[in-house]
Amino acid sequence: MTDCIFCRIASGEIPCRKVYEDEEILAFHDINPVAPVHFMLVPKLHLASLAEAEETHAALLGKMLLLAPRLAGEQGLANGFRTVINTGRGGGQEVFHLHIHVIGGGNIPPMVRRN
Ligand code: 5GP
Ligand code: ZN
Repeated sequence: MTDCIFCRIASGEIPCRKVYEDEEILAFHDINPVAPVHFMLVPKLHLASLAEAEETHAALLGKMLLLAPRLAGEQGLANGFRTVINTGRGGGQEVFHLHIHVIGGGNIPPMVRRN
């Protein structure tokens, strides 16, 4: 998937501010942060979105979720953080390579606004 920006980041072709890396997962700071701490966990495997995930990906997804609090703590988010997974155009997804946003360190507004 050479046309996928997160695959190109995962392969090292495009630089990033790395938070964590192992053989299956990369975490890096968002280029356009919405809070003082804003990084993403991505699988190195190209998976377009959560909607494409299957039973065979269960361990990988579990590993990513369990990593989120550990990395959040390492990034100074001792009081908590928000995780976001945008899925599909209807979910506001812009980069079609599955990623978990980890956001915190500032004033985190209610996730759903009721006007
Ligand atoms: P989505 O809307 O798909 O959930 O989020 C995609 C995120 O990727 C956005 O927050 C955007 O700022 C971030 N992003 C897009 N391109 C790049 C890039 O080249 N490098 C980094 N570090 N983040 C990116
Ligand atoms: Zn990809």
